[in-house]
Amino acid sequence: MKCLICQAVSHTVHAAGDWSEVKCPAGCGHYKVSANLVAKMKFKNEFFDIERTRRWLKMSRYDEPVPLISTYDYNVSLLHRDTEDRSVIAPIRSRQPLTSD
Ligand SMILES: [Zn+2]
Repeated sequence: MKCLICQAVSHTVHAAGDWSEVKCPAGCGHYKVSANLVAKMKFKNEFFDIERTRRWLKMSRYDEPVPLISTYDYNVSLLHRDTEDRSVIAPIRSRQPLTSD
């Protein structure tokens, strides 16, 4: 199967029950994804933000060698958003001087 994050050809170590375990040779490494999340992404045709997800996995590996990506993590920080949404998340700071009149 393909890597759920970057779509590279990967090895599915385990795919039963509540989660799938994937080994991606393209940079995502070894991780688990909840089955609910996989189903949700397919249904909604959504994707991981590759950069953010790989950073998240790297950080999570300090605590857990094979991090499990839950629907919660995905919704909070890993969902790929297009540029329109991004402007809402990070509002552009006004560069105009405060003293203008
Ligand atoms: Zn990958």
